[in-house]
Amino acid sequence: MTAKFENNNLIVLNPLSGDKVDTLTVSDEKYINDSILNAKIDSSWSSLSVSKRVSYINKFRKELLKNKKEIASTIKNETGKIDFDITVEILTSLEHLKQIASIAKKALKIQRRNAGLMKTKKAYVKYEPLGVAGVIAPWNYPLATPLTSSAEALIAGNNVLLKPSEHTPLTSKLLKKIWDNAIEYKNAFQIIIGGADVGGSIVKNNNIDIICFTGSTSVGRTIAKQCAETLKPCILELGGKDPMIILNDANIHRAVESAIFGGMSNAGQTCISTEEVFVEDGIYNDFVEKISNRIKSIKSGSTGDYGSMIIAQNADKVKRHIEDASKKSKIIYGESDEKDMFLPPALVFEPCEDSFIVNEETFGPVLSIRKFSNEEDLFEKIHKTGFGLSSSIFGKNKKRMNEIIKKLKTGTVSINDVMTHYGISSIPFGGEGVSGIGRLHGKEGLRAFSRTKSIVVNRFNFLNEIWWFGRSEKINTLLNKVMNLIFRY
Ligand code: NAD
Repeated sequence: MTAKFENNNLIVLNPLSGDKVDTLTVSDEKYINDSILNAKIDSSWSSLSVSKRVSYINKFRKELLKNKKEIASTIKNETGKIDFDITVEILTSLEHLKQIASIAKKALKIQRRNAGLMKTKKAYVKYEPLGVAGVIAPWNYPLATPLTSSAEALIAGNNVLLKPSEHTPLTSKLLKKIWDNAIEYKNAFQIIIGGADVGGSIVKNNNIDIICFTGSTSVGRTIAKQCAETLKPCILELGGKDPMIILNDANIHRAVESAIFGGMSNAGQTCISTEEVFVEDGIYNDFVEKISNRIKSIKSGSTGDYGSMIIAQNADKVKRHIEDASKKSKIIYGESDEKDMFLPPALVFEPCEDSFIVNEETFGPVLSIRKFSNEEDLFEKIHKTGFGLSSSIFGKNKKRMNEIIKKLKTGTVSINDVMTHYGISSIPFGGEGVSGIGRLHGKEGLRAFSRTKSIVVNRFNFLNEIWWFGRSEKINTLLNKVMNLIFRY
């Protein structure tokens, strides 16, 4: 545990020392309802133009940069991440805010569309705020996930109710402090503290117009069912089992380093962590030899290549996966210069089909490595779990890789690369299957937080429409002639 509930308090603990970092009051039903109501009735933020909202988000970004030291120490205290991973998280978050702000005006601009046969009409699409967005976040990126989802909802003109994970609420609390100091629209961005029940209250509240949930597939399913009750829109960013495919013509050095980075950075606690590596038979032995040697010099620790597990339950799950795999498969470990919440990197070779590591998200510094020789078998294995967040392919033959891209049921595919797509905020981010529904990032993300409204304007009001009642008999004949003429080809 890195957090415990006592009476109406949430006690946040440092995952390494177990020391208390802070005590927060859990938001009660009245506080939650009042906050949501304040957000519902205050239209001052949504009434601003997109340009104005963008300028506030840019101001917020600059304030975050000024407070980067405090943000970094808060993340460290509640997660046990190493400094480099924290720097990357802050940089990625600021870059996201900058990129998303830069595309917002165009993405949310009213659009003229072709009216087709309806020559006497003008057709437009408008993107309007939905109202109040409930953002529910996990613990693995306590800055990036709550901030980026909230910023997209805000730029789209919504007021945001953010519920951070009970394990890492302090970074979000700091975000709220920085927002309130810099931006006068306090009701536009509010935070609610608590666990699953508090998250549930937000989902079920009728004044919440959209849910943006990032977390586990099992909770995502529950939320989807609750949203289905009122057909409330929900964006679900869930777990992953991201496969890496290494083809015979891959640059082996790049493939080895990418596999290790994709699997082990942030202690493998990233939804887009590489979890499964599939290596083609012609390069398999070489790859296995190189990665087995390389992993021995990778270590976890406060000054290691990656930091600690963030919550004990997840550390236990990862250990369970490794123990299960160790019964039938060879495992090679790297190092860990500290114990308890630090897990050494692990490579599991040829895990059994019924092992946890093949069938569930592991979410730790573990890679499974399997040989493949036929593509049909490869795709069957890749798609077995139903996860479809992201994937990567290493090789040279573009034609072959394009064929593989077509067959991969994942939201993103990286070629000779891993994970960097999250840092490119102009492209949509999200998964399919049990990895979720909907997209964040890019114009797709901004529009996901918007009401897409189609507007049709009649141009010549002095003219009667030919289909109105009282029309001449000839109109039917005319329409048939027009049909035959226009739809011939
Ligand atoms: P979780 O599902 O346990 O919790 C996520 C959030 O949901 C927390 O704030 C929690 O308090 C809240 N919650 C729990 N039960 C709830 C309920 N019934 N109703 C409403 N809210 C509820 O997930 P976690 O353990 O915090 O995060 C790890 C998971 O998140 C992993 O599976 C990881 O892959 C996934 N994740 C996905 C992405 C993505 O973008 N796809 C990003 C980061 C993490």
